[in-house]
Amino acid sequence: MTASQQPTASQDPTRIDALVIGAGFGGMYAVHKLSGMGLSVQGFEAGGDVGGVWYWNRYPGARCDLMSLDYCYSFSPDIEQEWTWSEQFAAQSEILAYANFVADRLDLRRHFLFETWVTGAAYDEAANVWRVTVDDGRVFEATYCVMASGPLSIPKGVPFDGADDFKGEILLAAKWPHTPVSFEGKRVGLVGTGSTGIQIVPEVAKTAGALTVFQRTPSFTLPMRNVTLEPDYVAELKRNYAGIRQVARNSPLGGVRPQSTRPFFSVTPEQRRALMEDSWARGGLSFLGTFSDLLVNPEANEQVAEFVRSKISEVVTDPVTAEKLKPRGYPIFARRPCLDTHYYETFNLPHVKLHDCLESPIVKITPAGLLTETGEVELDVLIFATGYDGLTGALLNFDVVGRGGLQLRDKWRDGAKSHLGLMIASFPNLFLVCGPNGPAALANIITLDQQNIDWIADAITHMRQEGLATIEPTEGAEQGWMDMVYGMAELTLVSKANTWYVGGNISGKPRGLSMYTGGFQRYSEACRLAAEKGYEDFVFEKAATKQGARSPETVG
Ligand code: NAP
Repeated sequence: MTASQQPTASQDPTRIDALVIGAGFGGMYAVHKLSGMGLSVQGFEAGGDVGGVWYWNRYPGARCDLMSLDYCYSFSPDIEQEWTWSEQFAAQSEILAYANFVADRLDLRRHFLFETWVTGAAYDEAANVWRVTVDDGRVFEATYCVMASGPLSIPKGVPFDGADDFKGEILLAAKWPHTPVSFEGKRVGLVGTGSTGIQIVPEVAKTAGALTVFQRTPSFTLPMRNVTLEPDYVAELKRNYAGIRQVARNSPLGGVRPQSTRPFFSVTPEQRRALMEDSWARGGLSFLGTFSDLLVNPEANEQVAEFVRSKISEVVTDPVTAEKLKPRGYPIFARRPCLDTHYYETFNLPHVKLHDCLESPIVKITPAGLLTETGEVELDVLIFATGYDGLTGALLNFDVVGRGGLQLRDKWRDGAKSHLGLMIASFPNLFLVCGPNGPAALANIITLDQQNIDWIADAITHMRQEGLATIEPTEGAEQGWMDMVYGMAELTLVSKANTWYVGGNISGKPRGLSMYTGGFQRYSEACRLAAEKGYEDFVFEKAATKQGARSPETVG
């Protein structure tokens, strides 16, 4: 069905088998997989085309911090052979080109309505349908609803008053213009030094007349040391993709990364130093593959943190700036570790300044720039790289209503809660992709998207074979999963920093690390077992009893 064939707002709802919300890598694979099973599928996407986060994040320097050989689909050997990555860490433009290539190759766009915001999703128990409304008033009904809206889709935006008064230009990293932006000779201010801000700084500094970086919490960042991929290397990769994918699926990250069984203190101080120097020289996330206990042993973690701080002093010539750039008070790798290209070096340029918002917080935006507690900084352009309402933002962005009128935002008042990060008790036939209680941001999201959607497809196949109308997890299974998730979170240092991982960046959001920290491999094993054990953690309703019946017979 194409957009032109859709009903208008005044017509009856369109009835299909499955609705998919989002056309990022998860939504794209979902429409491909489900339509390939013979289901009628309707997708919705707020953006103008496929690509999700890579459609919106066109800011200078945008690049993936996972290797391109990993950060791509593995379900199609043909696509693996037809597509060729040019760099070890691909830039946004290349990742978006890849998404477009896949959409063309698999003819995915016909399933989506683009520039279409979902405004509500409600389960009708009597009819056993999910009824989804979109911003132009149209209504769609389906048996299954797949939320592939992404863990990082709702930007936090401009967190200060006065934006309307600013005489210059305001840019959001997460909603970057589609036309080139010139910083030539301009006075630019950038707020936010997470993965996004750290990528923007060196690029904007190349042409800006002056750049002021407004930093609140310094991030740990490691050199990316990106390289162009040589044709021989690519050919070798392509010959070995099947093995590479197997390694990825059996790894904690869902991607190929060196792993170590060597605890930090099991080797001498000299050996540790040599290993850290080697990791720094190799770049990327080599550190995580150098020692086995960096996420669980605070002393080991602090020694690596101190090594990285010492590198900042080696690079940044002004000792005051170097000191301000050094992250303290939280473990390295507890925030998402950033990978940069000449970030620290940029602060040696005479036209680049660091403003420490811990010493002198931003008060508001003024017509001329930013007012801080120690004075006004005049600016022509203001860039906000202030992050996202992560994990749950897109899922709570509109009303999602389950059985008995239960609102998802009420169910999740104290934090996101689901079984396997895939399904929610009292929300039958609603599936989450890359949900907040799976490994989400701690895993390779494309590998996770595929694993989640394959699980969903298997569950739907099971239901169709057995004549089952609905599936939902039991309250007990959901609680058991969440107890394990929160129990495991306590054992890792990842829960010990105030980040978007724990909801710490959004005021009023419940705090806590609700992501599964046991690694992708163990997570996917748990999902596999849940299905193989006959879905014993789930309740089904039979199709026959569902037609017009309010108290269906339950099985399972
Ligand atoms: P982020 O990590 O949440 O960083 C947001 C930054 O904005 C932080 O430095 C934060 O400071 C600052 N900020 C927010 N409100 C502020 C305020 N009122 N005053 C001053 N500073 C403020 O967001 P992000 O950089 O967009 O990254 C989010 C995630 O996206 C990453 O963790 C990663 O998963 C993903 N990402 C990946 C890549 C990649 O693949 N290379 C690139 C970009 C993003 P505080 O920390 O003090 O709040």
